[in-house]
Amino acid sequence: MIKLYNTLTRKKEEFKPIEAKTVGIYTCGPTVYWFSHIGNLRTYFFEDILKRVLLYNNYAVKHIMNITDVGHLTSDADTGEDKLEKSALRENKTVWEVADFYTKHFQNDLKNLNIKEPTVWVKATDTIKEQIDLIKILEQKGFTYQIADGVYFDTSKLKNYGVLRGNKKPIELKAKARIEGAAGKKNITDFALWKLTGPGVQRQMEWDSPWGRGFPGWHTECVVMSIKNLGIPFDIHCGGIDHIQIHHTNEISQAQGAYGKIMANYWLHGEFLNIEGGKISKSIGNVVNLDDLIKKGFNPLSLRYLFLTAHYRSNMDFTWKSLEASQNALQNLSAKILQLGISGGLPSVSVNLEEAYQKKFLDFISDDLNTPKALALMWQMTNDPALSSKEKHSLILDMDKVFGLDLDKIKKEKIPVEINRLSQAREKTRQDKKWAKADEIRNEIAKQGYEIEDTPQGPVIKKI
Ligand code: AMP
Ligand code: ZN
Repeated sequence: MIKLYNTLTRKKEEFKPIEAKTVGIYTCGPTVYWFSHIGNLRTYFFEDILKRVLLYNNYAVKHIMNITDVGHLTSDADTGEDKLEKSALRENKTVWEVADFYTKHFQNDLKNLNIKEPTVWVKATDTIKEQIDLIKILEQKGFTYQIADGVYFDTSKLKNYGVLRGNKKPIELKAKARIEGAAGKKNITDFALWKLTGPGVQRQMEWDSPWGRGFPGWHTECVVMSIKNLGIPFDIHCGGIDHIQIHHTNEISQAQGAYGKIMANYWLHGEFLNIEGGKISKSIGNVVNLDDLIKKGFNPLSLRYLFLTAHYRSNMDFTWKSLEASQNALQNLSAKILQLGISGGLPSVSVNLEEAYQKKFLDFISDDLNTPKALALMWQMTNDPALSSKEKHSLILDMDKVFGLDLDKIKKEKIPVEINRLSQAREKTRQDKKWAKADEIRNEIAKQGYEIEDTPQGPVIKKI
């Protein structure tokens, strides 16, 4: 049984998919106007763990991730500039070139972090027609109004606006003071469905619509891209916690307005990553990207290891020291794999011990994706004298299907036949307690550039 914390109900619930064997997931993707920082990547990592846990539990996963290449403005209150149009001006490129460049870079970041690709990538600009169709339905049902700036969703028309926010009492819709956002907006919480280009404004990305030339609102895009690929309702919708208050709340409102249904049954949100105790922010100048880590000589998977050490619903603080510690832990783990892969060691003392570890691991990861507990269990298991090396080796690789540290790719160095022969000869002399001869052979091996480490599992040969 998998249990997941559902933001919608504010409870950890048993996960019951709509179809018996396949789970549909939609994860809000990047706005491709700039590089993703390691905070963004923590959210995609958590979604990858969710997917791997479902796969480990024998579900097939249909995963949709969008690329926001239009409509995300610098302010979530639907004001400010379009992030992509702004980047295009800065970089002296077309908006399409900007989107293409940062999309590819983002996909490469995912690859470096060993995050599984979604089943379907979908770009906002590829679903403009469907977005216009959705707004038309909302218009027919009386949920919209038009002002000079564009078409807006009237949140006062929806009985239970804000369910995801956990509102106990109705939201105060009319602001006493100024309503943030465009002039003429009726309620504080109303949001743009279609923004008009406006007189004198030059945009590269704009389309005709029944309301005038313009572009869709960010929240509308995700409703269309998810439902088009997964139907309504679908199983799981994910994102970072900052999406609860506005973006996901407004997605739910449109689906409720247009189809009278809750969009997805489970809403999962990952907590934020801070850097050296502070919020990640360009103005503070503390933004770290995956490229910065690689330039400093870190293996990107050491960041993945670091992310595994915290539960996805806990705040996490990134420090360079913690990354170093993770890199060391990952190196130790790799060395362990090599060591364990070398000899079969002693057979297991307890027949059911391997299964017991497997069961405990499954329990931890299926309990709202508890990776820190699962990781601690793996280390405990590697030090358990009651398990054989072979069992430990296969358990680590099995657990790594969820951790995603690519441990199956760690290969033993190819040791020349002659060195292997000398090592075996040395073992024989050691068994015969001919210590001087054993040292002689060790020196001969060293002369040829190899060293021998004697471990409880047997000798390990390494290049010097
Ligand atoms: P954006 O491209 O701004 O829409 O963000 C992409 C994803 O990263 C979204 O799911 C955000 O919720 C998430 N996100 C943004 N900042 C952070 C952070 N500091 N830590 C974790 N996730 C974040
Ligand atoms: Zn979204």
